[in-house]
Amino acid sequence: MSYYYWFMVVFLWLCPPREGNSPDQTMVITYGQMLVQVCRCANVLKKLGVKKGDRVAIYLPMIPELVYTMLACARIGAVHAIVFAGFSSESLCERIVDTQSYNTPCTHTHTHTHTHTHTHTKRPALLRVNIWVSVCAAQTSWDTGCDVWWDEAMRDVLEECDPEWMDAEDPLFILYTSGSTGKPKGVLHTVAGYLLYTSLTFKCVFDHRHDDVYWCTADIGWITGHSYITYGPLANGATSVLFGGVPVHPHVGRYWELIEKYKVTKFYTAPTALRLLMKYGHEPVEKYDLSSLRILGTVGEPINPEAWHWYYEVVGRSRCPVVDTFWQTETVKGCLWSHVHTFPFFGVEPAILNEHGEELEGEAEGYLVFKRPWPGIMRTVYNNHERFENVYFKKFPGFYVTGDGCRRDKDGYYWITGRIDDMLNVSGHLMSTAEVEAALMGHLSVAEAAVVSRPHKVKGECLYCFVSLKDHLEFTPSLEGELKRLVREKIGPIATPDFIQNAPALPKTRSGKIMRRILRKIARSESDLGDLSTLADPKVVEVLLSQRSQALG
Ligand code: AMP
Repeated sequence: MSYYYWFMVVFLWLCPPREGNSPDQTMVITYGQMLVQVCRCANVLKKLGVKKGDRVAIYLPMIPELVYTMLACARIGAVHAIVFAGFSSESLCERIVDTQSYNTPCTHTHTHTHTHTHTHTKRPALLRVNIWVSVCAAQTSWDTGCDVWWDEAMRDVLEECDPEWMDAEDPLFILYTSGSTGKPKGVLHTVAGYLLYTSLTFKCVFDHRHDDVYWCTADIGWITGHSYITYGPLANGATSVLFGGVPVHPHVGRYWELIEKYKVTKFYTAPTALRLLMKYGHEPVEKYDLSSLRILGTVGEPINPEAWHWYYEVVGRSRCPVVDTFWQTETVKGCLWSHVHTFPFFGVEPAILNEHGEELEGEAEGYLVFKRPWPGIMRTVYNNHERFENVYFKKFPGFYVTGDGCRRDKDGYYWITGRIDDMLNVSGHLMSTAEVEAALMGHLSVAEAAVVSRPHKVKGECLYCFVSLKDHLEFTPSLEGELKRLVREKIGPIATPDFIQNAPALPKTRSGKIMRRILRKIARSESDLGDLSTLADPKVVEVLLSQRSQALG
């Protein structure tokens, strides 16, 4: 096994993608061409020694090679573990170690679509092979022992590769999601159930028709991208747009321009993107002809009424239904969906329980659980079946516990009210407070940290961190900057805290448990802090309140 220090900077020249970050990076890929690429890539993997059942970690941005590589794994029965390209090298390393993809002849494919230097690797990642896609400005050295050019590797193999026969319950992929204990969970999905469910939900939820042009703006590094960019649309033979850019480059009308250009009929995005684009008003949307649109989708986090109205009225011109889809990495997706509020997909039986695990009928609010499994539900936490049972089935035996709060209205529609565990949803990305706290405590000056969420106009929620420093140390702007950088480096840019407050002490119960409920209220600038009588030292709260304005700037 080799340990490598690496980073690389890649820009796609030789293989211009679908619609890249820059509008001149455009290509059309037919199903026939894709099959050839997938087979070639499968043969490359085989040549490297990858076999059925091996885990292959993939770390790529939104380029066609990502789709080819994941499907190549599926073709030869290898289990892909895609790591979101926005994660830091430490996060990548942790996931590679957990999948044990380094024990097998493992392929790791890495590109980055920026041309600047970036220094995200501090610790070694465990890799066997880096397949470089193409480089225009690499700031890293080539290691002949493990680096391979994508184009060369693909040229030297046959363009046909028989698919491996699989059992319905064989694993298809592992995808990591945050766990409330901090360590990410490797959610494992299987071949037949996953494919059946993604293709069926894609067809039904989006009312797929053969002349549709479908576009989902998610990243393939998350479950939405796995299910509704790759597997669901491709299994239905859909024509879809793969977009590797950002919504505001080179201008804030990029999404609307692409909808006009490709005559997109189904558009699927996240509330956070809508809130970002809403800031620029109607004008950038109204410049484009969006008359091709038939259905608008939203996913990843609760959609607030302002964003919903803007989406429906300004983007959909009040004629396209908005489909809100609730999902989890664990449940694949489409488990609750509807054109206005949320309703269960067939085969999915939700229930709302109270704190004592009693099922509530009619109009009610409580814990969202599912009563029965369905084909697309996860099978286990990779390498830790006990954790699977503990996290999802222990709190309310006999039910799958989502970790979300939920309200059912008098018409039977479900409204997700947000996480009820120690998880945060920042721009649709789920992360655990424990993960961020652990990163902050990795700084030599920090004695203790507690992280909570604060509402954010664009991201939905953002990170508000309380840190207690070790004795006699002073909280300075430069330390604050260092702490933000540390979290970025350890987890990735999506986890960068918005606010860090100096906390000489944290509010704790007499048994020493941090009372996050109070911290959450302080972070949210709420005036009623609730019952403080169980605190060991209520004065701590006064100090935190008096210092809040500094943190908020
Ligand atoms: P993940 O496992 O990272 O895919 O995140 C799943 C979590 O995102 C869910 O448990 C919810 O908290 C949240 N979520 C996803 N979709 C929606 C939605 N349409 N409405 C409200 N919350 C959502």
